[in-house]
Amino acid sequence: MKRTLTVCPYCGTGCMFYLVSQGGRLVGVEPSSTHPVSRGALCVKGWNAYAFVHHPDRLTTPLIRDHGEFRPATWDEAIATVATALKSVQERHGADSLMFASSAKATNEENYLLMKLARGVFGTNNIDHCARLCHSSTVTGLTEAFGSGAMTNSIACLDDSDLIFVIGSNTTEQHPLIGSRIMNAVRGGARLIVADNRRIRLSRHADLHLRHNNGSDVPLLNAMMQVIIAEGRADRAFMESRTENYPALAATVAQWPPERAAAVTGLTPEEIVAAARLFAGARAAMLVYSMGITQHSHGVDNVRSCANLALLTGNVGRPGAGVNPLRGQNNVQGGCDMGALPEFYSGYQQAADPLVREKFARGWGVSSLPATPGLPLTRAMNAATEGRIKGMFIMGENPLLSDPDQAHALRALESLELLVVQDIFLTETARLAHLVLPAACFAEKEGTFTNTERRVQRVRKAVDPPGEARPDWQILCDLARSAGYKEISYAAPHEIMAEIAALTPLYGGISYDRLEPHGLQWPCTTSDDPGTPILHREHFTRGRGRFIPVEYRPSAELPDEEYPFVLTTGRSYFHWHTGSMTRRTHLLDREERSPFVELNPHDAARMGVREREMTQVTSRRGSILLAARVSDIVPPGVLFIPFHFVEGAANALTNNVLDPESSIPEFKVCAVSIRRVP
Ligand code: SF4
Repeated sequence: MKRTLTVCPYCGTGCMFYLVSQGGRLVGVEPSSTHPVSRGALCVKGWNAYAFVHHPDRLTTPLIRDHGEFRPATWDEAIATVATALKSVQERHGADSLMFASSAKATNEENYLLMKLARGVFGTNNIDHCARLCHSSTVTGLTEAFGSGAMTNSIACLDDSDLIFVIGSNTTEQHPLIGSRIMNAVRGGARLIVADNRRIRLSRHADLHLRHNNGSDVPLLNAMMQVIIAEGRADRAFMESRTENYPALAATVAQWPPERAAAVTGLTPEEIVAAARLFAGARAAMLVYSMGITQHSHGVDNVRSCANLALLTGNVGRPGAGVNPLRGQNNVQGGCDMGALPEFYSGYQQAADPLVREKFARGWGVSSLPATPGLPLTRAMNAATEGRIKGMFIMGENPLLSDPDQAHALRALESLELLVVQDIFLTETARLAHLVLPAACFAEKEGTFTNTERRVQRVRKAVDPPGEARPDWQILCDLARSAGYKEISYAAPHEIMAEIAALTPLYGGISYDRLEPHGLQWPCTTSDDPGTPILHREHFTRGRGRFIPVEYRPSAELPDEEYPFVLTTGRSYFHWHTGSMTRRTHLLDREERSPFVELNPHDAARMGVREREMTQVTSRRGSILLAARVSDIVPPGVLFIPFHFVEGAANALTNNVLDPESSIPEFKVCAVSIRRVP
């Protein structure tokens, strides 16, 4: 038996565990008892994270589409064909007709390399990844308010908090080990407010459960702040010494007394007042949010409101406090950090800044780097349907299931002249590709992931990849060389990290030898910097924390006579993202086999729908068939559908309307109808 310490490939909590292997095959997982996050525990996905690795569906050889069918190819042929095809699109239509989609499942080193390939080799800032679908609102909103778009505190800070405010996060299902840490804190005496109109498991442990209407977070938070100011509960000393723009915030929230907010949120004024008093009365209040806050056409405004509340009460820069976005995928924080975003190079260095471009051009040995602003992934899909994006290179993502409005996503992908997919399975998106490159999974390569609390951790190889599959970083290097960039040469991922550290001040002090045993939290700028568990302690990254007043904007599509229900989407405990790994894991698939729609018993009775009966749910975009799950988890008038299942794809229904600033889609609110299928 061999035990290899590595990082879980599922959620951003970033638990470390040992992969147990025998004779070159994985046979199990053991938690790491000393790891500061997992502390000897794992959730069901972590315990089963080895099971998909040897699945017979793994891609084992490059595939080239020939007369409509895939045929196996050698690596030499595949790499040369991809490089030539990308170059051809670039030469005929311009560099900005190409889009590169990076992966929150790939390592930091691989995200950095794809960013380098897009900008340094193919000359476009069109590089993005699935943070666009989950936390781009966080990056925009928190960067404006604090100067940094990441979780301000550490997961361990939950132990120091005496009030935890969870808004828009089904933590026990999406980030189970953080969820259980919250429950431990509550058992230890911390108070808990849960704002979520689903009766999620955490709400059973809450002192206050606010079941506000979907999309009404801004009125709720504005009214809480109005109460805090009116009752003299704001932290004046903190505001005067550490913040700016308070008068503008005070003027805006003054327009939101609890009675007005009650009419929009569906709460009572008393509930809002109680929440405000609980939050402002805490010694250390920790705000935790996730995609219930970010995935709206006003997602950035929601994030700004969270930041405003923390600034108003002095809850930033100290233990047990802070604004804490829980990042979804295992390495979505790292994907952002590595500059797999159109507006930033690694470490959030602005692509628009000529000095930044000059620095990277020098570091990479290229004559110049592109100045034209890049496209976010969601806008690139729109551009593909309009014929402006002609070629797409997708590494480890499955937009056909994960993007809003599936019919639109299909149109976008089918309109491409060139679609290359690099992945571990033949996903729904890969089936549409012209070329497919087989990649190694997390258990078959070296590298680093960065978890939601900014902890950079080592990923280690436990077994060989199947067949001819190769680590993404090796494929990207070969592709760069074949496209004419001969200077690229790394013996191993630690050399890529050395280059990242040299060009990226936030990661300046990070090297593999320093990541033993349990990683470092950025900013870590020098080789003796111990890392930063809590941001903004003495001053904010931007200097002063900035209040950004927010006016309420309703969701783009509200229920009406034809589509009288609000649909909200999310994950289930047993599955992950588009299910390509969890649905190939026997135990997880057995526990949650098929898609379902949750509807309230009152609605079910009214519609004549009984438990497990088939229903048809329809929006203006499409229609799907699902079994009914009758439950008071959802309030009347609201339906919930998990988005993991291709045979009942929630995103066939969702609305491709984008936040104007972050370009995140409004996954959390759209209007639908439901009927029983006879
Ligand atoms: Fe993996 Fe997240 Fe579960 Fe930890 S909580 S074992 S990181 S899925």
